[in-house]
Amino acid sequence: MLSFECECGNKTRLYATGDCDEQGREYIEIEDDERLSVIIGDKSMLLRCSFCGYTYRLEQY
Ligand SMILES: [Zn+2]
Repeated sequence: MLSFECECGNKTRLYATGDCDEQGREYIEIEDDERLSVIIGDKSMLLRCSFCGYTYRLEQY
């Protein structure tokens, strides 16, 4: 469904688990967390590529 691809070519998918929370939002999981780690901060979410170490930051508004 969703996929992440780093500049270095590292690619992983995020798939739907089939489980939803009480508001009908479905949980997703990273297919291979050896390839990508997600760090949730106060105001941003970081996606860190485990291959090259490059980190992407998604700002929360
Ligand atoms: Zn990378």
